[in-house]
Amino acid sequence: MAKRDYYEVLGVQRGASEAELKKAYRRLAMKYHPDRNPDDKEAEEKFKEANEAYEVLSDASKRAAYDQYGHAGVDPNMGGGAGFGAGGANFSDIFGDVFSDLFGGGRGGSRGGPQRGNDLRYTLELDLEEAVRGTSVTIRVPTLVACKTCDGSGAKKGTSPVTCTTCGGHGQVRMQQGFFSVQQTCPRCHGSGQMIADPCGTCHGRGRVEEHKTLSVKVPAGVDTGDRIRLSGEGEAGALGGPAGDLYVVVNVREHAIFQRDGKHLYCEVPISFADAALGGELEVPTLDGRVKLKIPEATQTGKLFRLRGKGVTPVRGGGAGDLMCRVVVETPVNLDKRQRELLEEFRGSLQSDSSHSPRAKGWFDGVKRFFGDL
Ligand SMILES: [Zn+2]
Ligand SMILES: [Zn+2]
Repeated sequence: MAKRDYYEVLGVQRGASEAELKKAYRRLAMKYHPDRNPDDKEAEEKFKEANEAYEVLSDASKRAAYDQYGHAGVDPNMGGGAGFGAGGANFSDIFGDVFSDLFGGGRGGSRGGPQRGNDLRYTLELDLEEAVRGTSVTIRVPTLVACKTCDGSGAKKGTSPVTCTTCGGHGQVRMQQGFFSVQQTCPRCHGSGQMIADPCGTCHGRGRVEEHKTLSVKVPAGVDTGDRIRLSGEGEAGALGGPAGDLYVVVNVREHAIFQRDGKHLYCEVPISFADAALGGELEVPTLDGRVKLKIPEATQTGKLFRLRGKGVTPVRGGGAGDLMCRVVVETPVNLDKRQRELLEEFRGSLQSDSSHSPRAKGWFDGVKRFFGDL
């Protein structure tokens, strides 16, 4: 199959600017992206075709070769040993360039120059009470900081980095192969354009040293597991004088002996006696602010939830406080003495032949009867 003209593929004029090419390619890539066109062979072909066209036309030297020699000038299968890799080798690069600004990604500045330091992540374990009320903690984090001996330059005191002699400070070198020239990151300075003749003894030329930093972190009230507190500029120092990254303190709230938390609400289980459940009574239940009294009406069944309004958590992002939900669990009495047994025996006898005292059991037995009747 004869290849279509690359300019025709992208739908641009022969003299199109870089920006026009990029815009045209982005439009096609979005339209024919395999993620948007699953199992569509035609879209996949169009996607590949657009990629290939853009790969060539976005590279000044390949574009020149294409303009002069057509497909023969850039086809990796022709003219043996041409410099750039077989189709698609640079694909991810191109794709990254086009899509990074699309999605606001950014790729950490130009290769080789000063680079922003890495972000750090620190997991902060908190008790429920600390998370709910807020707290101040001191943390120690291992990080990379700018070397003080050389002020981060990596060069021995009194000297400074010199311009790289291999690339003349460009960070990139060009290799001529036939009528193609291929650009590569300078192997000597790894793209920085500078080299250190006399490295700093403290950091061995790296410009950064490992150190433990002690920081105090203010934890606002209401945080929950997974919340992040960002400490701007407290991450790793940047390379070659680049800005430092950020430190993210990630909250992890420990399990509590009494309360379970679900967002702004708290849950707890309260055991009640069989007598309190039947007759009603007053219980003491725990809250994060101390004990409160909870009235239990008579005939309370096990599992019933009682809601204490406003006794939950005030969320860190604002809004009213949640509630505390107390689930009562009726406890069967154990270790009965003789007298207690007699009372219960008598009580059991009094229940017999009157199912109105046990509505749930009655409903259940009726259901079982119907079930066997249907068999
Ligand atoms: Zn260099
Ligand atoms: Zn140093």
